[in-house]
Amino acid sequence: MTRKNKHVNIPVFIPHLGCPNDCVFCNQKHISGTSSFNKTDTEAIIKTALSTIDTQTTQTEIAFFGGSFTGIDRDDMIYLLKVAKKFIDSGKVSSIRLSTRPDYIDEEILDILKYYGVKVIELGLQSMDDEVLKLSKRGHIGECAVKACKLIKKYGFTLIGQMMIGLPGSTLEKELYTATLIAELCDGARVYPTVVLHQTELCKMAESGKYTPLSLDDSVTRTGEVLEVFDSYKKDVIRIGLQAGDTLFDPDVVYGGDYHPAIGELAENYVYYKRISNQLDKLNCNGKNIVVYCPVGAVSKVVGQKRCNKSELIKNYKLKSIKVVEKKDIIGYNIIIDIL
Ligand code: SF4
Repeated sequence: MTRKNKHVNIPVFIPHLGCPNDCVFCNQKHISGTSSFNKTDTEAIIKTALSTIDTQTTQTEIAFFGGSFTGIDRDDMIYLLKVAKKFIDSGKVSSIRLSTRPDYIDEEILDILKYYGVKVIELGLQSMDDEVLKLSKRGHIGECAVKACKLIKKYGFTLIGQMMIGLPGSTLEKELYTATLIAELCDGARVYPTVVLHQTELCKMAESGKYTPLSLDDSVTRTGEVLEVFDSYKKDVIRIGLQAGDTLFDPDVVYGGDYHPAIGELAENYVYYKRISNQLDKLNCNGKNIVVYCPVGAVSKVVGQKRCNKSELIKNYKLKSIKVVEKKDIIGYNIIIDIL
């Protein structure tokens, strides 16, 4: 049997389908880059994607993203699951993942999802703080989110918790608290700094001065701090920042604020800068050459965008030079420093 060593998601976006909520930050049409959806297109969407994938060597997963999958009309939900399951039964697709809200989770729904081959549930938790949830008009409280997470894990699904940075009423402390709970309850996370989109209540709040969007610096720092929480629990963060459909770069879609397409990379640059400077603070490195050992694949994150970390460290610690070398046995955001 051929080993499937690659993994591909086939995304099927379900924008705002049947969602009765109006979270202040949400304009699902712009986030998914899709403004309309016809469930009968699903089979064709999946077939088209599969025609570009070598299913012998690639593990494929159908991903229902965009709206709150388990909150849509029950017949529509089962229709979509049946379509997806046909591809699982034919061996072309290995599993299904979907995103939904914590208040659309109960035993009956989880029984259905299990039956149709869903493996991964992504929960839009956004914050575990009741005041932030209220100001963001999420329509549920933190306790509901905790219960949903526990139930999903009891059923044996893989659970990814999504959280946001910079929501109304939020602070770094509340975000660290949210990240800690997600790290304890979930298998992984997505972290989304808030982007203020036009045609949302958040945009109106910003225009009227009731909400101040985070500056890019604050967004990077708070995201970086949250990444360190997940790192300390050894939980993967599978995505930082919205996947920018082209529309997100359109000034007609994003209301000011500081949307940066590489926010994830900037946040990781921040974490490495902090880790390196924490160690350099304890060393006598003035005028010295240093080597920073980092995890495999992390060299560019340590060096920073446009080499910003490297030049700042050289300047602030009066170093002669920095060499960054990847090392197999280093994981997470850990680094080792050698002074030559
Ligand atoms: S529940 Fe999801 S889709 Fe519905 S308004 Fe909130 S963020 Fe948007």
